[in-house]
Amino acid sequence: MKQLVIAIDGYSSCGKSTTAKAVASLLHYAYVDTGAMYRAVTLHLLEQGISFDDMARIEQVLREISITFRRHRHTGRNELFLNGVNCEDDIRQMRISNSVSEVSVIPMVRHAMVAQQQQMGRKRGVVMDGRDIGTTVFPDAEVKIFMTADVELRARRRQDELAATGEQVPLEDIIENLRKRDYLDSTRAESPLRRAADAVLLDTTHITIAEQVDFVLDRVSSALFMAGWD
Ligand code: C5P
Repeated sequence: MKQLVIAIDGYSSCGKSTTAKAVASLLHYAYVDTGAMYRAVTLHLLEQGISFDDMARIEQVLREISITFRRHRHTGRNELFLNGVNCEDDIRQMRISNSVSEVSVIPMVRHAMVAQQQQMGRKRGVVMDGRDIGTTVFPDAEVKIFMTADVELRARRRQDELAATGEQVPLEDIIENLRKRDYLDSTRAESPLRRAADAVLLDTTHITIAEQVDFVLDRVSSALFMAGWD
């Protein structure tokens, strides 16, 4: 059967990664969390004390760091490794969320991440979630979804996720962070967050995860039908 690229873009904490992971697992496709990659670069710059405007050091960092994903043998969790070290929990911290959009705006960072993402999906058979997958990384993706949801609901989901890892953050702080990221992500010059002309809009405010997954699978069936199931 034809191997597709499924691009799931949209605002932060709309349920993109939960949906993408479930779809990838059902189709036996690879899953790439592109946000995790920008988070990893941010973590590295913060830990090395590198200023976000020090382009010479950032260029060197981009040449030297290695970002890979591995599936945990027992939990099946997709985990990010930075230079061989598991950083999956570190990159989800609020301090990273507070800085990541300032790092992802840097054209040099975007070029490096986009090139790696294109390489990861070159054999197709992949579900990728992010902000610019349907517009820049894989403009030829057969399935393109653009997710949105009410900001307060997104913040509550994010608050629950952080609480599960032991980080208690007031709802107002999360709402402020989401609004700031939405703004920076949508207004940057290089591959801003925007809905591709051929992406289908999915508002997840009033629907369950199962319904989100079904929605994407319906689009996959249509894309396979259009491709003649070959
Ligand atoms: O998806 P997640 O919320 O983890 O993404 C973190 C940040 O990474 C986003 O707010 C955005 O600044 C950046 N990002 C991006 N392009 C992508 C994925 C994420 O700029 N494809």
